[in-house]
Amino acid sequence: MSAKHILVVEDEEKITRLLCDYLKQAGFRTASQDNGDRVIAQVKKEPPDLILLDIMLPGKDGMALCREIRQFSNVPIIMITALDGTEDKVCGLECGADEFLSKPVNSAELLARVKSMLRLKQYQEQLQVRTRSQKTFSENAGAAPVASTRSPVRNRKKPASRRRCEERSKVSIPPMPEPMITPALNGSATCLMSACSIACTAAAMPS
Ligand code: CA
Repeated sequence: MSAKHILVVEDEEKITRLLCDYLKQAGFRTASQDNGDRVIAQVKKEPPDLILLDIMLPGKDGMALCREIRQFSNVPIIMITALDGTEDKVCGLECGADEFLSKPVNSAELLARVKSMLRLKQYQEQLQVRTRSQKTFSENAGAAPVASTRSPVRNRKKPASRRRCEERSKVSIPPMPEPMITPALNGSATCLMSACSIACTAAAMPS
């Protein structure tokens, strides 16, 4: 499996280098951008698996970028905020950010949050694939059968000679009655007239 691609959007070179080093050591592939006006083009050109997004940037700020990225991508976005950036977090959530990291960034927390977001993304993708498969299956199952160029066998008319032959060979067989049991004679014998004998007797009588 190829290394996941993380885009680091940060204008402070020292922080950018630190973040990229942490991520590379953990096996990720990184790219960086320090100007807000160039982020959208970069995301469209080489879509990352996750974006680390600073708020204060030259050009477009992190909030505007987040809002704009959400118009064409569901890529996980982790915003980098000030230590007590409650307002930034509220605003970031409204703009479409998924997660937050406070400065100074702790390397263990960074990796934990990145991995967590990537797992969530993978789960969502699997869910989408399954939903698409189920939808396709349902559509195929409900599709009308393809019309045959031949009429169904049961609706085809039989030749007259064959119909007459079949009618002659039909024998009217009365339904099988239940066996009749008469009361015991002299207390020792039971007279049982079977259904078969009744049917035979009835058939022998003139109509
Ligand atoms: Ca900054």
